[in-house]
Amino acid sequence: MALDSKVPQGPIKDKWTDYKNHIDLVNPANKRHIDVIVVGTGLAGGSASATLAELGYNVKAFAYQDSPRRAHSIAAQGGINAAKNYQGDGDSTYRLFYDTVKGGDYRSREANVYRLAEVSANIIDQCVAQGVPFARDYGGLLDNRSFGGVLVSRTFYAKGQTGQQLLLGAYSAMNRQIARGKIEMFNRHEMLDVVVVDGKARGIIARNLVTGEIERHSAHAVVIASGGYGNVYFLSTNAMGSNVTAGWKIHKKGAHFANPCYTQIHPTCIPRSGDYQSKLTLMSESLRNDGRIWVPKNMEDVLAIREGKKKPTDLSEAERDYYLERRYPAFGNLVPRDVASRAAKERCDAGYGVNATGEAVYLDFASAIIRYGNEQAKIKNIKNPSDTKVQELGKAIVKAKYGNLFQMYEKIVDENPYETPMMIYPAVHYTMGGVWVDYNLMTTIPGCYAIGEANFSDHGANRLGASALMQGLADGYFVLPYTIGDYLADDIRTGKISTDTPEFEAAEKEVSERIEFFINNKGTHSVDYYHKKLGKIMWDKCGMSRNEAGLKEAIEEISALRKDFWKNVNVPGTATEYNEQLAKAGRVGDFLELGELFAKDALVREESAGGHFREEYQTEDGEAKRIKEFQFVSAWEYKGEPKDAVLHKEELVYDNIEVKERSYK
Ligand SMILES: Cc1cc2nc3c(=O)[nH]c(=O)nc-3n(C[C@H](O)[C@H](O)[C@H](O)COP(=O)(O)OP(=O)(O)OC[C@H]3O[C@@H](n4cnc5c(N)ncnc54)[C@H](O)[C@@H]3O)c2cc1C
Repeated sequence: MALDSKVPQGPIKDKWTDYKNHIDLVNPANKRHIDVIVVGTGLAGGSASATLAELGYNVKAFAYQDSPRRAHSIAAQGGINAAKNYQGDGDSTYRLFYDTVKGGDYRSREANVYRLAEVSANIIDQCVAQGVPFARDYGGLLDNRSFGGVLVSRTFYAKGQTGQQLLLGAYSAMNRQIARGKIEMFNRHEMLDVVVVDGKARGIIARNLVTGEIERHSAHAVVIASGGYGNVYFLSTNAMGSNVTAGWKIHKKGAHFANPCYTQIHPTCIPRSGDYQSKLTLMSESLRNDGRIWVPKNMEDVLAIREGKKKPTDLSEAERDYYLERRYPAFGNLVPRDVASRAAKERCDAGYGVNATGEAVYLDFASAIIRYGNEQAKIKNIKNPSDTKVQELGKAIVKAKYGNLFQMYEKIVDENPYETPMMIYPAVHYTMGGVWVDYNLMTTIPGCYAIGEANFSDHGANRLGASALMQGLADGYFVLPYTIGDYLADDIRTGKISTDTPEFEAAEKEVSERIEFFINNKGTHSVDYYHKKLGKIMWDKCGMSRNEAGLKEAIEEISALRKDFWKNVNVPGTATEYNEQLAKAGRVGDFLELGELFAKDALVREESAGGHFREEYQTEDGEAKRIKEFQFVSAWEYKGEPKDAVLHKEELVYDNIEVKERSYK
C-alpha cells in the first residue's frame, strides 16, 4: 500500500496556516448531528473531547479508569515545552522544531513537528486560562527550566506535578461539556474492537469493566488516544494499566503501525531491586538541571562501595568520573535521554555500576546545594556563612524545586538524597512508535484518528523531555479539532449510525468469544507469568542493545510464548464481575502479538538510533558507529514515505557521528 502523508505543499512555516485556511469546515448547526467517539481521556483524549464538544460535536469518551483524572498523564512530573522565549535566551518556533527533529535522530515528519512547535505557545495560554498553576518566578511571570538536548530554557512546569495539573485543566474543560450533555463519559469501559463499515470507522465494541456487559457504540469518527505501550516490557515507568489494546485492535482492522521498535529508555529511573517488582519509578529529567551524574573512576572504589566499605560521599572530586560532562561538554548532564541512557549503560557494562546488581550510577546534588546556598547567603546578606548555613540554605532551594521527587525517592529507596547521591539507571519510559497517521492525524482506516502517545508522528527515534505533554495537548486542543472537520464535512447528511448491522454483530461476537475463552480455559499459568516472560525477552533481546541473532531468537521465543499463552493461560473469576485479571489477559494477549512485530521491526532496522544500539553498529566504548539510511515506517511491512527535506545537511554532534549529507526524498 502506498502511504500518503498528505503533508501540504509550500514552505514549512506556512503549511499549517495555509492548510487551515483551506480545509472544509462543518457549520455549527451541522456539528450537532455528528457523533465522535474518543477512546482515552488522558491529556490527548481529554483535551480533544473537551474541544470537540465545545465546537458542538456530540462526544462519547471512554476510559478504563474510574475517572479521566486517573489517566497515566497524571504521572508526568517534569514539564511541558513551549517556544515562548520568556527567558530571552534565543528560543523560537524554528529552534523548538529543529531541536525536536534533531533530538529524534532525524526520524520524525518535519511538517508535523513544525506545526507542533508553532502551536506550543497557544497551549500555555490555554492552560493558564484554565487556571493551571504553572511555577512563577519572583516577579510573578511564568518560570522555565531546561530539559535534555536543548540549549535554552523552555520547559513550563508545576513543581513535579505538571501532568497532574494539566490533566486537571483538561478534566475541568471536559466536565463543563459533560454537564452540558455534549460529552457522554464512559468510565470503567474498555474498547475491545473498532467497527469498520463500508471501509470507514463507525464505532467500537466496549466492555463495561464493572458489570462485564459488552456494548456497541456508533459514531461518525473514532479517535484513539490510548497512550503508549511501554508495558510490553513488563517493567516500565508507565502506569500499570497502560497497554496497546486500542492501537492493536485498529491495527488488526487495517491501521498501519509505524516504528514499533522505537522505545525511549529514560536515564533517570530508580534501579530495579529484585525479581518480584512490578513497576519502575521515574525520577524526573528536570533533576538533571542540577544533579550531576557520575560513577567512581577507580574499580577499587566501585567494589568498596558495593561491599559497603565506602560511601559515595567518601570519594573526592578527583576520584569521580562525571562521564557526561567529560564526553559531552556542550550539553553536560543535559544531553538527550538516549545519549544519557546509553552512556550509563556503557559505564555499568564496563563494570562501574554502583549498587549490588551493578546497574546504577549516581545523580548527585551536593554541588547544587552548595551553589544555591552561597547564592542565598549573598541574597540574604549573610557574610562568611558557615558550611552548615550554606547547606541549610541550599537544601531549602533544592527542596522548593524538587521536594516531592526527593520525598518519593526516599520513600522507595530509604535513603536521604539531600545527604547522599541518588542512584539511577535507565528504564523503559515512552514509545515513539505507534499507529501511523497522516498530517490530519488520521490512520489508514478512514475516519479513525490517533493522537497523543498512541500515534508515532512527532518524535522520531527519541523524544525530547517535556515534549509528550506538548504533543498530546497540541493534538487534542489545536490540531485534531481542525483536521477532523475536513473529514466530517462529508458526513453532515449521514444521520445516526446504526449499531444493528452485521459489522457490529461480527465484532461483538469476536470480542465475546475471546472473553469466554479466557474464563473457560482454566489453564496452568497466570497472566502475569506470561507478561513477565515476554518482558524479559523484550528487555534482553529488544532493549537498548540489540543484535541480529538475538532479535531472531526473540521472534521465535515470543511466537512460542504466545502459543503457550493461548493454551495454558489461567484467568480466575467470572466475566460478569469486576475482573482485573480478565482485563489484563486481553491486554497481554495483544502485547504478545505486538512484541513480535516490534522484534521484526528492530531486526530489519540495521541501525543504531535513539536509545537503541544495533551491536553491529557501535564502537567499543558504546557509541553509535553509523546510522543507516532513513527507514521511515517499519520496513518489515511498509516502505517509502514521501518526506519534506528541510534539514538536508546535518552533523549529529551528540555522538560525533559523521553524517554530513542526508536527504529524505
Ligand atoms: C513517570 C512519567 C513521567 C512523565 N513525565 C513527562 C513530563 O514531565 N513531560 C512530558 O512531556 N511527558 C512526560 N511523560 C510522558 C507523558 O506523560 C505521556 O506520554 C502522556 O501523558 C501520554 O498522554 P496520552 O493522553 O497520550 O495517554 P494517557 O495519559 O496514557 O491516557 C490514555 C487514556 O486511554 C485510556 N485507554 C487506553 N486504552 C483504552 C481502551 N482500550 N479502552 C478505553 N480507554 C482506554 C486510558 O483509560 C486513558 O484515559 C512522562 C511519562 C511517565 C511514564
